[in-house]
Amino acid sequence: MKRKIALEEHWESPNFLATGSHDFTDADYFKNVQERLQEYEKRIEDMDRNGIQTSILSLTQPGIEGITDPKRAIELARKMNDYVAETILSKHPDRFLAFASLPLQDPEEAAKELERVVKELGFVGALVNGYSNIGDENTAQYLDEPQVWPFWEKVENLQVPVYLHPRIPLPNQQRIYEGYEGLLGSAWGFGVETATHSLRLILSGLFDRYPNLTIILGHLGEGLPFTLPRVEHRLRHQRLETHGKHKKAPTEYLRENFYLTTSGVFRTQALIDTLLEVGSDRVLFSVDYPYESMEEISSWFDNCPISEIDRLKIGNENAAKLFNLKHLVRQ
Ligand code: ZN
Repeated sequence: MKRKIALEEHWESPNFLATGSHDFTDADYFKNVQERLQEYEKRIEDMDRNGIQTSILSLTQPGIEGITDPKRAIELARKMNDYVAETILSKHPDRFLAFASLPLQDPEEAAKELERVVKELGFVGALVNGYSNIGDENTAQYLDEPQVWPFWEKVENLQVPVYLHPRIPLPNQQRIYEGYEGLLGSAWGFGVETATHSLRLILSGLFDRYPNLTIILGHLGEGLPFTLPRVEHRLRHQRLETHGKHKKAPTEYLRENFYLTTSGVFRTQALIDTLLEVGSDRVLFSVDYPYESMEEISSWFDNCPISEIDRLKIGNENAAKLFNLKHLVRQ
């Protein structure tokens, strides 16, 4: 399929190595990833070969969220957003768009920065790498917490989506992975972390207060299409005060406030389950480049047994609508 739009495509500045420690990752694989994070010509060739018209770029995890000093986070977020606008978007305006990096350590500053980059630099939303560290690496702020709600008010006003991207669990909450550190990242821990963070958003009542918020999740919803019905079923038997102030059933929020991307997944069975749970209007194509291969994901997606109408929606039309990219709708 031609003219695909891909949403979970990462970059990194040579001035800020955002990837943090990757002791558990194979060194050759990681070296290749790091080279590709900072490179755009080969990336465009790869996009051309695989029918990807546009990639929406985001600073790789843990990015700004991993900076423990809020002041530094504010400065660096601004620098990174300016960098991607000046050095990448301006050179390839027809191939790349960008999600903002935000200093959620200070939610009001994050709101201001989002408004600045959306209105002045044409960014299409934000990508948030899970919880934000504040003060030290074992302290987390999650996005459903009351101090973050003014940020969400701004997001709703600006009518842009927020992509909730994984990062590894807090260092002091990794006991269960001891001896199996390979599970900490994208193999498993990422998904558990992000699905649980999404449950916090769903259960908190955030979407009752701001019903027009749109959250995007990668990796076909981090398992939620499969697991959320069970969560909903069992929560009926838990004391009310133990699962937030949400007014609707959890699966309703997944259908109404979330979009789910194919990043890093090329499994038809999982896609079919996702389509059965949320419908083809809520699924978007993505790769998760350069951690994943454009060729692997694209060749699967282009040929997987779904209707051509759904393929068009997932590959192009849903994203073009969501981001108001009328010129990119496939003719
Ligand atoms: Zn990713």
